[in-house]
Amino acid sequence: MAKIFCVANQKGGVGKTTTAVNLAAGLARLEQRVLLVDLDPQGNATMGAGINKAELDASIYEVMLGLADVRAARVRSETGHFDVLPANRELAGAEVEMVELDNREKRLKDALAAVDDEYDFMLIDCPPALSMLTLNGLCAAHGVIIPMQCEYYALEGLSDLVNTIKKVHAKLNPDLKIIGLLRVMFDPRMTLSQQVSSQLEQHFGDKVFRSIIPRNVRLAEAPSYGMPGINFDPSSKGAQAYLAFGAEMVERIKTL
Ligand code: ATP
Ligand code: MG
Repeated sequence: MAKIFCVANQKGGVGKTTTAVNLAAGLARLEQRVLLVDLDPQGNATMGAGINKAELDASIYEVMLGLADVRAARVRSETGHFDVLPANRELAGAEVEMVELDNREKRLKDALAAVDDEYDFMLIDCPPALSMLTLNGLCAAHGVIIPMQCEYYALEGLSDLVNTIKKVHAKLNPDLKIIGLLRVMFDPRMTLSQQVSSQLEQHFGDKVFRSIIPRNVRLAEAPSYGMPGINFDPSSKGAQAYLAFGAEMVERIKTL
């Protein structure tokens, strides 16, 4: 059975896609079979995995509306060594079109079930909103990985996300857990980063991953080459940190 994780945070630009793409590539390096699910109409995870979102035969949009199955829509990331269920801006229309459908928060879950035995991990890159798309991600997943920048406003949005996860757990998906909070774009020279980081540890204890992802320009450059950062420059500090995070994830889920 595949382990399915959402990378979610309704704040924009906090490192969700960078985390999803690099974790996918990191797990692939550990010989895991990975499906990266792009659940964002921006299609950033698709592009970051080296797939042209403008030239898709089918995408997650058709899959969620029941017009194509996952096997027909998935594409191989040659630069990341994992499969991708790609997205592009068509997906933005799905929110509205799904309103008419039954079981609309479980469309993704049902679609992914068809390929469950072909993967060890499925990683879902969520859009920056607590929308119907994100709700589909949360309903499909066993757990949530929350990337966070250690800045003052980060904590403010966190309670909304945690409350949403609690509600989904209670009403729609009893399997759902917070796997952990991942500190990303970390700048150890900033006192505020250090303070917020230790507040997170005090408040969330061992739900905070030990691995910390530093701010690293190589991670930001990699998507323009269609490559996960860990393969673009394996020796960079960012790549090393995401590799360590991949190993930590594998350890952590053994204890779930
Ligand atoms: P959105 O909410 O729009 O989907 P996101 O949460 O997925 O955004 P990313 O796209 O991963 O965030 O990251 C936002 C920007 O920050 C990107 O330009 C990315 O390259 C850059 N970035 C992400 N992580 C790092 C890092 N550790 N160091 C430097 N730059 C980073
Ligand atoms: Mg993103």
